[in-house]
Amino acid sequence: MAKSKFEYVKTFEIEDRCLPGCWIVVRIDGKSFHRFSDVHHFVKPNDERALGLMSRAAQKVLEDFKDVVLAYGQSDEFSFVFKKDTSVYNRRNSKIVTNVVSLFTSAFVLYWPRFFSTQDLQYPPSFDGRVVLYPNDEILRDYLSWRQADCHINNLYNTVFWKLVQDKGLTPAQSQQRLKGTLSSDKNEILYSEFDINYNTLPELYRKGTVLIRNKETDGSNEARSKSSFSNSHKSNLFSPRISVLHVDIIGESFWREHPEILN
Ligand code: ATP
Ligand code: ATP
Ligand code: MG
Ligand code: MG
Ligand code: MG
Ligand code: MG
Repeated sequence: MAKSKFEYVKTFEIEDRCLPGCWIVVRIDGKSFHRFSDVHHFVKPNDERALGLMSRAAQKVLEDFKDVVLAYGQSDEFSFVFKKDTSVYNRRNSKIVTNVVSLFTSAFVLYWPRFFSTQDLQYPPSFDGRVVLYPNDEILRDYLSWRQADCHINNLYNTVFWKLVQDKGLTPAQSQQRLKGTLSSDKNEILYSEFDINYNTLPELYRKGTVLIRNKETDGSNEARSKSSFSNSHKSNLFSPRISVLHVDIIGESFWREHPEILN
């Protein structure tokens, strides 16, 4: 086809290829989910419907983007790790992030009614997205550890905060005041002495977040999936048998020793 005289405008586009040899991480995060969770009456601090829906939308990303080797999610966020030598979209940053975040968002909307059967979606949710490049395995692992530590810190805080509000009748402001300046050990102690809760026995889904990895080819079964809180529910058939949904520690060595293929 002959080129038009307007064709030159294409040269204004900026090259945004991700550096070769680096891990490409796409992190998406819900826009104003503090408000979104109020409007849709999320159970506080952990609405399992919402966590299940986030996981399902993330699985859709793994189904379509075969170079994603692992995804980690908590709250209203998910991180997708692309293998370091991926050539998806020629490693073009904006192509990768926009396609991931829009697929995730449309899947979140598509699957909404399967998770929120008695709660209509009130307005179109949106997510932001960014690409971060990590130059080696150690820093990639530190990135994932950072997100999982964040999950734990927030969950411990939110668990105590909502207990004080829901069970002790404190206002949110009073609860916040009560927790100001407390250490982790103080929060654990409040849970134990005032609510008879041992934090370490709360569901791993809340404490560890959600890890998605591909089942090994030879595996064939969906054995690994049984570790997921979601697969125990009637929702289990909503999840793909080729992807394991885990709620496990990824900060220590044992996960990585068990799954050496992920970093290869
Ligand atoms: P921003 O647009 O800057 O991301 P935000 O309101 O989404 O603003 P975040 O820091 O992303 O702020 O926090 C997300 C909020 O969404 C949490 O603080 C929590 O209130 C709510 N939320 C997300 N997932 C759940 C869930 N599964 N159950 C209960 N609340 C949730
Ligand atoms: P890519 O992912 O690279 O964008 P693509 O298949 O979307 O691939 P485009 O160059 O964006 O390729 O072209 C969009 C195609 O979608 C058109 O070629 C046409 O076949 C189809 N299409 C889009 N809008 C309409 C429409 N309103 N009516 C009929 N066909 C349409
Ligand atoms: Mg934010
Ligand atoms: Mg958010
Ligand atoms: Mg968030
Ligand atoms: Mg197109």
